[in-house]
Amino acid sequence: MAESVIDTPFEALPWHHDTVASVYHDSEQDRIPHALMLVGAPGTGRRQLAWSLAAMLLCSRPSVAGGCGTCDVCRQFMSGAHGDSRWLEPEPEKRAIGIDQVRGAVQFLQQTAAYGGRKVLVIAPADAMTSAAANALLKTLEEPAGDSVMLLVSDYGERLPATVRSRCQRRVLSHPSREQGLTWLKSVVEPAGDYSAVLDLVQDCPLEARRLINDDEVDGFLSLQESIRGLLDGKVAATVASSLLGRAEPGRALRLICGEMDRRLRLLDASGLVRARRAFDARKTLQGYLGIVSRGGNPAKDVMLSEAARLVAGIWREETL
Ligand SMILES: [Zn+2]
Repeated sequence: MAESVIDTPFEALPWHHDTVASVYHDSEQDRIPHALMLVGAPGTGRRQLAWSLAAMLLCSRPSVAGGCGTCDVCRQFMSGAHGDSRWLEPEPEKRAIGIDQVRGAVQFLQQTAAYGGRKVLVIAPADAMTSAAANALLKTLEEPAGDSVMLLVSDYGERLPATVRSRCQRRVLSHPSREQGLTWLKSVVEPAGDYSAVLDLVQDCPLEARRLINDDEVDGFLSLQESIRGLLDGKVAATVASSLLGRAEPGRALRLICGEMDRRLRLLDASGLVRARRAFDARKTLQGYLGIVSRGGNPAKDVMLSEAARLVAGIWREETL
């Protein structure tokens, strides 16, 4: 199937409450844009947010907290049977959202709503659309069909073509605080513990932290983080580090390096100018790699990671300032 019904389980994530409430108010005042771009970091529950918003936008008795969860529409929506919502994501085993999927979704938007009300299309992540797919969406963004709302989930937004970006209203999602992340993890993870180190590892992305904890990957990632620190300090060779990095999913490995560099960059002062320049240059390249990976590109993973390791090796070596 090119499109699937929305099947992300509902989860109330406190750091998204403001966004749900503000979209609710816009909807009540008939000011809801046809396309909303939800911009936030992966691992912060953007899919869950899109799911909540879709439920709220379709529900017959919505509130600031989202859909009521009990009306006919909500019940159908939660069972995945609501005909006026579509969820677009990469097909299994694929990383990109292709043009045929978008064409199918555009057709869905053009049909009359089964329930006579609004239609909602979620594209998650929108960054995964190929450029042909993004182009296929343009006309619908320009001339939206009837009462429909598109929710485009995105990492930064910048990766989408400017033509798409300019036709969406952009909402930057608030990033969960350390405290929010810890409180939430306490309620969803067994055994309860202090997961500060894990949140450090994933730049305060609580859902990513939960995944690492549940999949028993924390120790592996903590030791990977150690190697990255050694690499930056010039104490671990790039070849050694890159073979360790190669065991992780490339996006995650790159984010781990970026996270560690960001933390260190924040601590630099004027005396670290040379170091800062090198670090910013490397950071930019790594960001480019991340862009390729998140767009569904499939570069030679080993080459990319060994190049990444080579670029950042020794930036924080003692004698470099
Ligand atoms: Zn409802």
